[in-house]
Amino acid sequence: MPTNNAKDAIYITKQDAKRFGFKFYVSENPCKNCLSRPSLRYTCNSNCISCNRARYNKGSKQ
Ligand SMILES: [Zn+2]
Repeated sequence: MPTNNAKDAIYITKQDAKRFGFKFYVSENPCKNCLSRPSLRYTCNSNCISCNRARYNKGSKQ
């Protein structure tokens, strides 16, 4: 069983995400802030989703 390859299969590049109209993509690179790897990111601005969420929870005033 090629388990190592199966792991790579979940990564989707930003270009592919755009092409298929996905809101999110998975980056192979770790997030600078939370170091999660793979990091799930927004296609529109490349922001890490977990960091974005944490930011919203912290500063509730807008
Ligand atoms: Zn992050």
